[in-house]
Amino acid sequence: MRRPLIVGNWKMNLNRRQAVELAEAVARGVGANGPADVAVCPPSVYLNAVGAALRGSRVGLGAQNVYHQPDGAFTGELSTAMLKDVGCRFVIVGHSERRHILGETNADVNQKLLAVLATGLTPILCVGEKLEERQSGRTQDVVREHLETGLEGVSTQDAARVVIAYEPVWAIGTGVVASPDQAEEVHADLRMLLASRYNDQTAAGAIIQYGGSVKPDNAAQLLGQKNIDGFLVGGASLKADSFLAIVGAAK
Ligand code: PEP
Repeated sequence: MRRPLIVGNWKMNLNRRQAVELAEAVARGVGANGPADVAVCPPSVYLNAVGAALRGSRVGLGAQNVYHQPDGAFTGELSTAMLKDVGCRFVIVGHSERRHILGETNADVNQKLLAVLATGLTPILCVGEKLEERQSGRTQDVVREHLETGLEGVSTQDAARVVIAYEPVWAIGTGVVASPDQAEEVHADLRMLLASRYNDQTAAGAIIQYGGSVKPDNAAQLLGQKNIDGFLVGGASLKADSFLAIVGAAK
């Protein structure tokens, strides 16, 4: 039985006070137990402050990005060890904004994922097609390529620690959510790919999140799909009420 994982990606939003207040409200709202695991990914400068606000709660801390090298002359970058040091458990890799705005390649994403796994953290590997790719019937190819290249060199043992997030680019921040059927089709395909790349057990245990305009009013229907195991939430994670309502959809 897979346990849903709901993660808030705060992106480049909020100031320090707002970030801490939001973390406190999420921690309070999530309580001591519940049917889903929950984490938030604040801007990296607030990881420490948010980590302190979450201490003692069951809300995990995650980072939005990382650099693959362990240390050295890489101005402006952060290593996996640094993220672990400030209490991170999760690291998002290959978010479409990093791929398409900041020019990250599949090879970059793979290096980051390997570094995250090597440090004992949990990578959230984002995959997803652009609108024109969907419209030209290339969704399956694009998503497969993201998955295959992202997991290059990952052992079966380590693959069990990778969270996948299917995030169609056309649904991110647009208010246009994928229909449950559209999302389920891709999630089922991703799980099949994991089975053929690794084995049935790895595929059956893999957490595959959906991301893209998830809101309180569409969360339950999406989560009702057989292969959807939680969410990566952008906009709706910036308000405690809406994020907690999404968490509450996992029953
Ligand atoms: C995201 O950026 O990961 C995301 C899913 O954003 P939103 O929920 O705002 O579409």
